[in-house]
Amino acid sequence: MQDKFKNKKITVMGLGLFGGGVGIAQFLARQGARVTITDLRNATELAPSLKQLEGIPVSYKLGGHCDEDFINADMVIINPAVPKDSRFIQIARNNHVPMDTEINIFFQLCPAPIIGITGSNGKSTTTTLTGKILQQTQRMTWVGGNIGKSLLLELKEIKPSDIVVLELSSFQLEELHNAKKSPGISVLTNISPNHLDRYSDMDEYIQAKKGIILHQKPEDYVILNYDDPELRRWERECRGSVVWYSTKDTLTNGAFVQGNDIILSVNGTRIAIPCISRIMIPGIHNLQNILAASCAAYLAGANGQHIGNVVTAFAGLEHRLEFVREVHGIRYYNDSKATTPKSAMAAIAAFQSPVILIAGGYDKGSDFGEFAEVCAKHAKSVVLIGKTAGKIKELVIQKMAQKETPSIRTPNTFKEAFQQANALAASGDIVLLSPACASYDMFLNYEERGRQFKTMVQAL
Ligand code: ADP
Repeated sequence: MQDKFKNKKITVMGLGLFGGGVGIAQFLARQGARVTITDLRNATELAPSLKQLEGIPVSYKLGGHCDEDFINADMVIINPAVPKDSRFIQIARNNHVPMDTEINIFFQLCPAPIIGITGSNGKSTTTTLTGKILQQTQRMTWVGGNIGKSLLLELKEIKPSDIVVLELSSFQLEELHNAKKSPGISVLTNISPNHLDRYSDMDEYIQAKKGIILHQKPEDYVILNYDDPELRRWERECRGSVVWYSTKDTLTNGAFVQGNDIILSVNGTRIAIPCISRIMIPGIHNLQNILAASCAAYLAGANGQHIGNVVTAFAGLEHRLEFVREVHGIRYYNDSKATTPKSAMAAIAAFQSPVILIAGGYDKGSDFGEFAEVCAKHAKSVVLIGKTAGKIKELVIQKMAQKETPSIRTPNTFKEAFQQANALAASGDIVLLSPACASYDMFLNYEERGRQFKTMVQAL
């Protein structure tokens, strides 16, 4: 592998802030490549990633791309978020410069079996749970991918007997599909419209997600959510064995709930894990994530004890229905990672108490019809911010019919949104930041949005 990149002139297109760009740049520099990193964003916007690369011998072209880096290069590494119709990809193609991605290189070089986890929502939670369960076993477990960590730098230590758990985005899956690779154990949490600013329609998005199953072998496994109507239709196209999971139905082959037990009925064996009453993360959606992770970890060698230990101790990830604080009987939750209508709907449904919702943000082409209906039916108040505020407001009003709730506010800033939400809340209520939208119109990313929310809650 050393010689493949040694002394090669390699352009990394898109450093980004999710770890993939940093990982590949460090990896290539260590392999002796001459690396140029280019990104449309400037150094200020990329500061967290640049800090991680301090002292690494790479050169930078930030705040835009130059044709030169796509003509006179031995290879271009494309960040999965770069649009396929980018002029610069075309330039590289016209000049016969080979192109690849961080995740493809990892798949080609990784000696251990891979569990790949994707879906429109619940990827990070399911990936983390799967990793935590497997970490209870004797098997060395590595967790990475779209969750924010490239495992390329760990490649040297990964052994064939280890197990790797990767969160995979639809963009990464498109590339894997091109490279004709799929994980040995694939997990799909759910499919709902997402990234429709990048895909021409829902079919194209679904096709990208299918990359996770299309190159599996007959001895491989695919774990599918039985409660998801789209995934129910996928069985015919699966090359590997299908294991289902459901929070509603009893299954002959898969994971489901019976009383206080998670039942795993897989490959002819059946185990019961008594744990439901002690699960800490709220909502049916999180129970689905737990079932998916239990199946994946079980197939990779975990037992009922390992699964029970983790699902009763896991308090959730930052920015995912994260409980922040209770003040004067009002409970504050940060769900800034809910960047799609479906995920915010799952968050609202997780609560019995009246919800004051803070939502809205960058417009990635989502349809807010169903979300507006859930707001009209279940929220006490809705405070809307960002690019999508007006659109969502109109839809909620349409769905309200003759009702008086929810009250709707459209402040100009996030700070005002927080103040207004607070003023609308009474003891016993929940103030929930669950935007249903990405954050890029007002924030660097969802993490910054979530942190600002938490800072305001802590300052109360
Ligand atoms: P992803 O990595 O796919 O964005 P996360 O696990 O980070 O998913 O969760 C993001 C948000 O999506 C959460 O804050 C929650 O509101 C919602 N969510 C999590 N799991 C699910 C699920 N299985 N179905 C629907 N929504 C979910």
